[in-house]
Amino acid sequence: MPTQHQTCLIIGASHAGAQLATSLRKEGWKGRILVIGDETVIPYHRPPLSKALLTREKDASQIDIMKATVYENANVEFMLGVQVTAIDRTNKQVTLNNGETLAYDKLALCTGARVRKLEIPGHHLKGVFYLRTLADAQAIQNAVTPGGRAVIVGGGYIGLETAASLRKLGMNVTVLEMMNRVLERVTAPELSRYYTDLHERHGVQIITHAQALALEGNDHVERVVCNENRTLDADMVIIGIGVIPNTELAAAAGLEVENGVVVDEFAMTSDPDIAAAGDCTFHPNNVLGYRLRLESVPNAMEQAKSAAASLCGHKKAYHALPWFWSDQYNAKLQIAGMNRGFDRVVLRGDPSKDQFVAWYLKGDQLLAADCINSAKEFMQAKRIIAEKRVISDEDLANPAVDLAAIISGNAAA
Ligand SMILES: Cc1cc2nc3c(=O)[nH]c(=O)nc-3n(C[C@H](O)[C@H](O)[C@H](O)COP(=O)(O)OP(=O)(O)OC[C@H]3O[C@@H](n4cnc5c(N)ncnc54)[C@H](O)[C@@H]3O)c2cc1C
Repeated sequence: MPTQHQTCLIIGASHAGAQLATSLRKEGWKGRILVIGDETVIPYHRPPLSKALLTREKDASQIDIMKATVYENANVEFMLGVQVTAIDRTNKQVTLNNGETLAYDKLALCTGARVRKLEIPGHHLKGVFYLRTLADAQAIQNAVTPGGRAVIVGGGYIGLETAASLRKLGMNVTVLEMMNRVLERVTAPELSRYYTDLHERHGVQIITHAQALALEGNDHVERVVCNENRTLDADMVIIGIGVIPNTELAAAAGLEVENGVVVDEFAMTSDPDIAAAGDCTFHPNNVLGYRLRLESVPNAMEQAKSAAASLCGHKKAYHALPWFWSDQYNAKLQIAGMNRGFDRVVLRGDPSKDQFVAWYLKGDQLLAADCINSAKEFMQAKRIIAEKRVISDEDLANPAVDLAAIISGNAAA
């Protein structure tokens, strides 16, 4: 049992770190809890950075994950603007970038992920941005000029959400996507078509098969040079080409790393004193039947609760069905499950009316559902997938069929 003389250090002050710290107290941790983060502010919600914060519908004071008083009341301490540079598992201490060392009894890695950099000529020019932190979002906001030209490199969720927000702020926006279609790695062609159409309706230009090869300008970016001799004028370039998990600390400390810090279903690494949670972990999921790394808030928060329980000597397995969301213009997308390995897609509703569901199936099983402005179906999809219910393609496709009635009347397989 944890005693009041023990210290738990948490590396990373974001979604996973904040949740882990407060959950530790709830699980009965009596000793010191210290969260060390290299950003300079207390944990904040990242999703609004490309949405309501970027459009100024919310300001920085409205996106705290928890109010400062919640941490104070739970006696959670923060050390911010400081980076952990090494973990010494033998002596159970970490080294900070200011040269200090701190001892721990238990340690949690909540180091998340960082943006993948596009190191093409001109990448250092002013006016070239990435979007991961509050500071990044504020720098983009300061550079917005209504009527100015923004080029976004990468047609994934972050790129498309940023495109929608910059359009709202009155910029002329072009999205460059290297693949055949936007969101190609994560959705079916029907969704890519829908999002391309949605953005074009709002005046965003989407160019596929477009690879940014160089950024040009005199001190400040002025244009993007692409393949096929295409050149686009730009006052601002935002690069959104994915993230890389921050696993170097764990790897250097001899912990197992494989597309993330390897943990078990209780969010524990191979070291019984070290847990890990959030974007940085490669974890098992028995609802899905395979290991994966996720980049999502619900994953970070729920896995952190398991990690906190484990560090206090309790066992709470983390096996939640993954879910995710994205907001662009008036389209609220909610995704239940993972579509990996699907053999067909069934549509329910009408994309042209901005309300539909794409069901991803394999054999008779539903793997995932992308629900556009369809909150009811999203909730139903979660149940169908988690309970392995079998529903025919015809019923899934027909908006007149009451899925709730089928679910409650249909025995699990
Ligand atoms: C613009 C944007 C929009 C998003 N939208 C959505 C959305 O709509 N829905 C959704 O589910 N998810 C969304 N996400 C993803 C979501 O934000 C992440 O899944 C979530 O932040 C993961 O939380 P985390 O705590 O695991 O890691 P992170 O949020 O990456 O936090 C890790 C923290 O640890 C710090 N750190 C790393 N190494 C060290 C070290 N050695 N020493 C000290 N500190 C360290 C990092 O600087 C960072 O502050 C979005 C992300 C972004 C950037």
